[in-house]
Amino acid sequence: MSELLPQLWTPELQMAFTVVIVLVVVLYVLSVIWVARDAYLRGGAWYVWIIIALVPFIGVIAYCLLRPPLLQIDRDEQELEIAIKQRELMKYGECANCGYPVESDYVLCPNCHQRLKNLCNVCNHALDPTWTVCPYCATPVGARGSARGAVSRSARTAQPQQAASRQR
Ligand SMILES: [Zn+2]
Ligand SMILES: [Zn+2]
Repeated sequence: MSELLPQLWTPELQMAFTVVIVLVVVLYVLSVIWVARDAYLRGGAWYVWIIIALVPFIGVIAYCLLRPPLLQIDRDEQELEIAIKQRELMKYGECANCGYPVESDYVLCPNCHQRLKNLCNVCNHALDPTWTVCPYCATPVGARGSARGAVSRSARTAQPQQAASRQR
C-alpha cells in the first residue's frame, strides 16, 4: 500500500488535486462575499451572518435557509406600495345609502342622490362631513350661511343623513 501510493500520485493527479483545492477555496471565498453582500442588502444583523458564513459551506447553507426573507430596498418599496394603495382606497369610497362607488369629491351620489359632501361656503370645494374647517380656504365649516351649516351638522352622523334622504 505504501509503495503503491507514490505510483498513483502522478503529476497529473497532483495537478488535478491542486485545481480542485483552488476551486474549493475560490468557491468558499465567493460564498462568504455573497453572504456578506446579500445580508447587508437585506438589512438586520449582517455582520453576524458574515461570522456564520465563515464556517466553511455549512455557514452558507445555514444562511440560505435562514436569511431574512426580503431585501431592505424591496421591503421599503412594498411599504410604499401599501401606503399608495391605502390612499387610493381613501380616494374612492361607496355611497353610505346605496353602496354605489363614488369618488372623494362627489357631493351627491349619482345613483340615489344621497348627499355625500357639503360644499364650502366660500370656495365651493367638496368637504367631508367630519371636517370642521375647509382645507382649501381655511373657512370654518358652517361659519357663513345658516342653511348650509345646518346641512353640515346633520350630515356629521350617518343616521340623520339617511333619514333626511328618505324624507326627500
Ligand atoms: Zn347612493
Ligand atoms: Zn373653502
